[in-house]
Parts: sequence; structure tokens; C-alpha cells
Amino acid sequence: MKVLITGGAGFIGSHLADRLLAGGAGVLVLDDLSTGRLSNIEHLIGRPRFEYRIGSALDEKLVAEFVDRSDCTVHLAAAVGVRLIVEQPVHTIRTNLGATEIVLEASEKARKLVLVASTSEVYGKSTRAPFSEDDDLSLGPTSRSRWAYACSKALDEWLALAYMHERGVPVIIARLFNTVGPRQVGQYGMVLPNFARQALCGEPITVFGDGTQQRCFGHVDDSVEALARLLATPGAIGEVCNLGATHEVSMLELAHLVRARAGSESEIRLVPYDQAYTKGFEDMPRRVPDITKMRRLIDFEYGISLETIVDDVIEDRRGRLAQQESSAA
Ligand code: UDP
Repeated sequence: MKVLITGGAGFIGSHLADRLLAGGAGVLVLDDLSTGRLSNIEHLIGRPRFEYRIGSALDEKLVAEFVDRSDCTVHLAAAVGVRLIVEQPVHTIRTNLGATEIVLEASEKARKLVLVASTSEVYGKSTRAPFSEDDDLSLGPTSRSRWAYACSKALDEWLALAYMHERGVPVIIARLFNTVGPRQVGQYGMVLPNFARQALCGEPITVFGDGTQQRCFGHVDDSVEALARLLATPGAIGEVCNLGATHEVSMLELAHLVRARAGSESEIRLVPYDQAYTKGFEDMPRRVPDITKMRRLIDFEYGISLETIVDDVIEDRRGRLAQQESSAA
């Protein structure tokens, strides 16, 4: 089996490429390196059954060629990261909607399976935990650009399901909850790589708001295992499925954990949302997946502990900082 991964040089995509190759599949990566990095897939270049192309998922011809050459697609190419979304809403909306439509369109002819990566962000401001796939979505107003991301991904889901029901394209939708691990970068606002870098550099660890907001962090190795299983599960076709860990931690607790595991003496500093993002920024107090469907469909649960996750991210950061130092010397 040959799998096209759009966004395959990104954080999750590159780990998925590793996992699929290890499982014996062939992998074709398409990535425009906007948020992905070549260094994420460097170790795969030249390996049998692996191929990559630097190009955009908005390039219809290129996507059509790659879809033709593969058996199915995992569509991960998207504008991601809260900071990027707040700063570049036009780019976010165009990329997220445009690329998904192009992938689905290209898959229509041969009715090839498309797994669309969506996000827990689509649940929006709902305060009902845990979030279940059939819950109502509760997005904020269009005047707050944060919700452009959630809305664009929700529309991606609708589009995918519409292509399935109207045009016969088999689709699976994976709603990924906070996924973290090596290769994730902090510059687009993701909390854990940010905390790890700050702790290692002795800078203040910036906790936004009052730090009581909670998230469930899943290790990327668990996320790609879940994605690979979904891809291989015929019963998942036509389904929307949450993928995530269920252990909750507050951002303040996370900051303390990162500081302790990094052996750091950084100050932990509370930063008001207005300063961290833009005025009127809305955050979610809690975000927990209901994993009943994930268990039922793929017989899987996230098993990697938060301590291991934090250690892995710190080690990855350490390596990166050392590299930066040696190239600056
Ligand atoms: N956050 C933080 N400090 C940072 C970056 C993020 O306290 O340097 C907070 C952010 O406001 C949110 C949580 O950490 O409450 C998770 O943020 P992230 O962007 O990683 O993921 P989200 O769950 O918001 O998509």
C-alpha cells in the first residue's frame, strides 16, 4: 500500500511517515515547508518506499498526480497553530478549505480513501466535557480570528462527508486533540515546546491567563499509531473519530512539571491573554475527548505518560539548542 501524506514534513506528518514505513507501507510526502521542515524527513530520504516533493497542497495538478500514484491519502496539510491563525486568518481559511477540496476532488475519480485530519478545536467553547463526536459545536463570533481555524476545519469535515455521500469518496475524519512530542516547534504558539525552550534557556515560563485552563496531551507516537489504525479500519469509513489522551493537566501544573523535569530555575510568569495574543482572545477552559468511539473502532488508547512526553520534548529541545549553538559558533 502506498500512502500520500500531505503535510508530511510537518510534526505529525513526519512521525506518521516513520510509522507507516515501519509497518511496510510506501509513503509519498507532499509539503510546501510553510510550517513543515525538511529536517523532519531527512532521515527518510533515500530509503526504499519513500518519496517526497516540495510543493503545495493547493497545486491541483501536483495533488492529482500524487493521488493517482497512491492508494489513499492522509490529509494533514493545513495552517496550524493558534498564533499563526490569529496573525494570518486569510492564509488559514484559504489553505484549510482549498487544500481539502483539491485532495477530495483528486480522489473522486478512483474513489480513493482520504483520511482528513481535523482538530478538537472544532468543539469550540463548549464547556461540556468530555467532547463527543456528535456534540453540538459552539464556535465564537467571526470578529475573533481564532475561530476561523475551528470553522475552516469544521467546514473541511462537512466537505469530506459531502464528498462521501454525494460523490462516493470514502473518507475518515480524525479529530486530533493536543498532540505533542519531538519535532514540534513553539514558534506557532504551541505550549509545550515553548515551555521546554523557556525552561532550558532560563527564560520566564509564560503561562497565559491564570493558568487554570486544562488540556489533555497525547504523545505523537500514540497519535500516529491511532491514525495508522484508523486508516486500516474499514469500519472507520464515514466516521468522525476523536483521537486523544484523557489525562488532564492545567497549564500552571504543566509549567511546574516542565521546570522540574528540565532541572530549571526559570520563573513561572502569568501573562494576560490580551498581551499573549490579541485583545479579546478567547481560550477554552477544558478540552477532553470522549474516546468511546476510538476504543470501539480501533481498540486503542493513548498510553504514553505525561512525564515521558515532557521528557521527550525537553530532550528534543536540548538537541535543537545544542545544534543552534554549534552552528552559531
Ligand atoms: N499557552 C500558554 N503559554 C504558551 C503557549 C500557550 O500558557 O506559551 C496556553 C494557551 O493559552 C492554551 C494552552 O496553553 O490555554 C494550550 O495552547 P496550545 O496553543 O498549545 O494549544 P490549544 O489547546 O490552544 O490549541
